[in-house]
Amino acid sequence: MPGKIKKPGIDPIAEVQPSLRREAEARLAREAGGQAERPANELVHELQVHQIELEMQNEELRRTQVALEESRDRYVDFYDFAPAGYITLNGDALIVDINLSGAALLGKERSKLVGRRFVSYVAPDDGDAWHRYFMSAKQSDGKLTGELCILRNDGSRVIVQIDSIRLVREGAVPVVRLSLTDISALRQMEAALRESEMHRHLLEQREIIQTALDGFWMLDSWSGRILEVNDIYCKMMGYAREELLTMNVSDVEANETPEEVKAHLRQVMETGYDRFETRQRHKRGHLVDVEVSAARSSVNGGVNYAFFRDISERKRNEEVLRKSRNQLETFIKQAPICIAMFDRGMNYLATSGRWAEEYGGGRESLVGLNLYISCPVMPAEWVGIHQQCLAGAAMEKDEDSWIRCDGTEHWLRWAVRPWIDENTRIGGIIISTADITEEKKLEAEINEWRNSQEQLQKLQIATQTAAAIAHELNQPLLAIASYSEAALMLLQAEQPSLDKVRRAIDGAGKQALRAGESIRELLEFLSLKEYPPEDFDLNGEIVKAIDIAGREHELKFRSDLRLDEGMPLVRANRMHFEKVLLNLLHNGIDAMRQAGVPQPAITVTVRTKKEASVAMVTVQDNGPGVRKEDVERLFEPFFTTKENGIGMGLTISRALIEESGGQLWIDPHESPGAIFHLTLPFAT
Ligand code: ADP
Repeated sequence: MPGKIKKPGIDPIAEVQPSLRREAEARLAREAGGQAERPANELVHELQVHQIELEMQNEELRRTQVALEESRDRYVDFYDFAPAGYITLNGDALIVDINLSGAALLGKERSKLVGRRFVSYVAPDDGDAWHRYFMSAKQSDGKLTGELCILRNDGSRVIVQIDSIRLVREGAVPVVRLSLTDISALRQMEAALRESEMHRHLLEQREIIQTALDGFWMLDSWSGRILEVNDIYCKMMGYAREELLTMNVSDVEANETPEEVKAHLRQVMETGYDRFETRQRHKRGHLVDVEVSAARSSVNGGVNYAFFRDISERKRNEEVLRKSRNQLETFIKQAPICIAMFDRGMNYLATSGRWAEEYGGGRESLVGLNLYISCPVMPAEWVGIHQQCLAGAAMEKDEDSWIRCDGTEHWLRWAVRPWIDENTRIGGIIISTADITEEKKLEAEINEWRNSQEQLQKLQIATQTAAAIAHELNQPLLAIASYSEAALMLLQAEQPSLDKVRRAIDGAGKQALRAGESIRELLEFLSLKEYPPEDFDLNGEIVKAIDIAGREHELKFRSDLRLDEGMPLVRANRMHFEKVLLNLLHNGIDAMRQAGVPQPAITVTVRTKKEASVAMVTVQDNGPGVRKEDVERLFEPFFTTKENGIGMGLTISRALIEESGGQLWIDPHESPGAIFHLTLPFAT
């Protein structure tokens, strides 16, 4: 035990003796004045008794003094070596007095502490807390308790419990007495206990944690230290468990500032739960996007559980989705068509730039607006179309008139379709429109022009026909005139030869018949448009035409039919087709007859041209064919090489086939034989 410190200059006996002496002398004087003289031996006896009495009193006093000294020493011991530090602070928080335990706690000699500011021994983190505490302690009448961290000279920290009381003595400046109790060991023990509790708890939970599909942490919320991890987390971040158990949250966090990390820890401690997304750094350096669900342990206070889900893939997908959505938005926005997407309430979700220009009424974006609010004059018919499509119908119209807000009439081609959301329900509709007003105008102009052209063509044909008729009639008329002249001349003779006259008249009659026949043929070709188109079997018509041609002509020819029996029906004007085929057969037979072909033969082949959805008929004879120089002119009106020909057959045939949507042409091959092809569309 260290040496006792005695207070100097205090001797109670020395202090008491002079006053006793004074009292004794006074009493002697009083007694001597009032009494007769006493004998000397009696006096000596009394004095001796008194002396003994005094000595006894003196002895008593000495014992009291020793007892006092002992009590004082005990008090000093008790003060200095109390298990708590006692400090007296003045109103400015300067140390006025401190016991040895207090000095030892602050880590400085007592003499160097007196007069110093107490706050200089408080850990900076707790500076504010101390000031608040001291202010309260100065004002409060009762006892105040708190907790502080003392930062000692050697840098070590001590956690102390402070109890304080204000002392106000009359005539003295008020002071605050502090008692400091070192509770570091207690706190450490608590922490150790917590940790061991946690470990025990962890061991119990490890099995469960290891089977979790997500990464898992257990974290000390005070220090941010990782206390436990599961294998999934180790794998996710590339660390071994042992490495992670020496690490702190901030060692793996790559996205958040330390303040943000602290805020999350605080949130968990205060509310018991937190969920957020962040990025952590893999051992190899790359970043891993994680979704964190953290919860405070209900068993061990101060511990956070956190589950981590690797969402890198999801983030990548989100990025791809975001990009493709942007591209799609740009695509829609810049699409050179009017297109808009609506939700079920007919609110705009997206529009092309053209749509906004056309129907936006000067607004740059319509997204979020309601169609019927942005266009209050929507015709009821259109509202009906929207409703039908919202119920699942897909509607479109090639031409529809549309009166714009400015009153002008426009023509639209439109389509309205429902769109399906991720729940496979109708999410709304998509409307696309195309303003075809210009097209319509152009079409009308073309029709007008075509009509006038047809008119012209008809006039031309009529002129040419008239010319042809004139040409056809000229010869027989000339012949008739000649025969008539001859007949007249013969009759003017003295003895007219009636036989010659009869022959002349007969000749005139034949010429008249020929003229009549030519005109009949022409008229037959010119009155062709009376039959409507129909679906018919091509093979059957060919067989029929061959049969007619065989009966009409004297020339016996061999017919070779290569038909396509499984062929679908064609759609055309059946009578026109028959006339065209007969004309081709007649031409072939005529050519073979004129050339005197020894074994006349006609081959008719039927094929399916799938790529064009048409049937193709080829008519080939084995006559002399068409001269190269004539091929180009064959389809011109009135081109003929026949003595009695009109040259309108192929011209009209081509017009008839084209009217049915087909084509007619000659195969420009070298002779022998002429080959003609024609096509007709299949019935749909
Ligand atoms: P036309 O039969 O009145 O002459 P077309 O227009 O039918 O009128 O025929 C025009 C001309 O085409 C014929 O005069 C003939 O010279 C030529 N022609 C048509 N078919 C054949 C064929 N199969 N072989 C040779 N020449 C042909």
